[in-house]
Amino acid sequence: MNFNFETTKIPIIKKLLKDKVLWLNPNYSDFNQAIKSSSLTMEDIDDAENRLLRFAPFICKYFPETLPHNGMIESELKPIENMKNILNHKFSADLKGCLLLKQDSHLAIAGSIKARGGIYEILKYSEELALEHNLISYNDNYEKFAEKNIKDFFSQYSIHVGSTGNLGLSIGIISAAIGYHVTVHMSTDAKQWKKDLLRSKGVAVNEYNSDYSEAVRKGRLRADKNPKSYFVDDENSTSLFLGYAVAAKRLFQQLNSLGIVVDKEHPLFVYLPCGVGGAPGGVTFGLKQIFKDNVHCFFVEPEQAPCMLLGMATGLQNKICVQDIGLTGITCADGLAVGRPSKFVGKTISQYLSGIFTVDDKILYDYMRMLLDSENIFIEPSACAAFEGVLKMNFYSESNEYIKKHNLTEKMNNACHIAWATGGSLVPDAIRNEYKNTFID
Ligand SMILES: *Cc1c(COP(=O)(O)O)cnc(C)c1O
Repeated sequence: MNFNFETTKIPIIKKLLKDKVLWLNPNYSDFNQAIKSSSLTMEDIDDAENRLLRFAPFICKYFPETLPHNGMIESELKPIENMKNILNHKFSADLKGCLLLKQDSHLAIAGSIKARGGIYEILKYSEELALEHNLISYNDNYEKFAEKNIKDFFSQYSIHVGSTGNLGLSIGIISAAIGYHVTVHMSTDAKQWKKDLLRSKGVAVNEYNSDYSEAVRKGRLRADKNPKSYFVDDENSTSLFLGYAVAAKRLFQQLNSLGIVVDKEHPLFVYLPCGVGGAPGGVTFGLKQIFKDNVHCFFVEPEQAPCMLLGMATGLQNKICVQDIGLTGITCADGLAVGRPSKFVGKTISQYLSGIFTVDDKILYDYMRMLLDSENIFIEPSACAAFEGVLKMNFYSESNEYIKKHNLTEKMNNACHIAWATGGSLVPDAIRNEYKNTFID
C-alpha cells in the first residue's frame, strides 16, 4: 500500500474518511462548454445504436425473451409513487416531483446494466472480425451469426474479461452465444452463484484471491499471450461506454411516452450506482448529449469504495486507489466494489457529472426491503445505492448549494427523479431470502 498522507488533508477526502458525503464536482460546466472538450459525440452514440439494430435479429433468435422488443435489450421506466411516499414519510426526504425506477435490473440476457455495455462490445468486436473475414456484409440479416460456419469461425477466438460478477455474466453469456471460448477472471468479491451460473453456460471462471483491479490485470496478461484473444477492458473501453450511452436515446422516448417533459422548467435528476465508472459514466454522457443542462447526473458509491470520487476530486484519476487513503474497499455491494476508477471515464465525464454521494452498506438493504414491500420489485443491494441520491438530494448543505447555484429552487416541484436500478433479476431465490434478512435492526 502506498499511503497517501497529503491527499487525506484535502477537505472532501478528510470528510469522507469519517462520514457519508455529497461531493459537488467543481469542474461541472454548462453543456455548451463541456462539449468542446469531448472526444466522443452524439454521432458515436448513433453509430452504437445502429449496430445494436443490425444485431437485433440475432439477439431475437438466441434470446427469445427479447422478442417483444424485436431484439432490443431495453428495460422499463416505471413510476414508483409508493416508494416515494415511504421515502417522504419514513425518512422525511421532502422529495417533490415524480420518482421513476429505470429497471436495468430486469434487462434481458444478463439481468443488469452490463447487458448494455458488455453485450455491445462483444457484438462490435464480432462484427469487425466477421467483416474482415468476409463472413458478412453490412446489409445482411445478422441472423447469419447463428449459422454453423460462422460459429465455428468464432470458436478459434477467445474472450477474456475481469469482473466482480455482472460484467462477467453479460460478456460470458453473449460470447458463448456467438461461439467464442470465454474466460471470466473474478475477484474475491464475486458471489458464488454468479460463478456457478457462468460455469453452467460453458464459461471458464478463474478465481483470484484479490480485488477487482488485480483480476483485471491477470485477465489482461492471459489475453495478451494469445493473438486470437480479445480482452474486454472495463477500465478503458470506449465501446463499452458507448453501449451504455445508447440508454439515453431510449430513455428520451420512454419519458415522452409517459408524458414527462424535461426542459428548463422541468429538470431531470438521475442517480446512478458507480463502480469503475463505465456504466454510470456512459449513461451520463448520453443523457447530457440529449438533455444538456436540464439533466443533473449524480453517482453513488460505497462509503468504503468511493473510487471515482477520489480520482476526480484529487485529479489523480486511476493513479490513486481507496486503500491509499486508508479505506478498505470492502462492501456488500459487489457491483460497486472497485478501489481504483477508470481514468478514461473520469476524464470523459469531468465536466458533465454533477456530483457523487457515498452510502453505507446497511441502508442498501433497507432500501431493498422498502422497494420490495412498497412496489413488489426486487433489485440487488448494489442497485439500491441509487436511492441514497434520491433520499439525500435535499439533505446536505451541498445539495442546497447545488440547487440554488443552478436556479432550481422554484423548479423542484416539477422535477423528475430517476433511480437507476442497475441489477437484480438473476439473483436466485435463496440469495434473495438471505438479503432480505441481512442487516435487520
Ligand atoms: C457494474 C455495476 C454497476 C456500476 O458499473 P461500473 O461500470 O462498474 O461503474 C452498478 N451496479 C451494478 C449492479 C453493477 O453490476
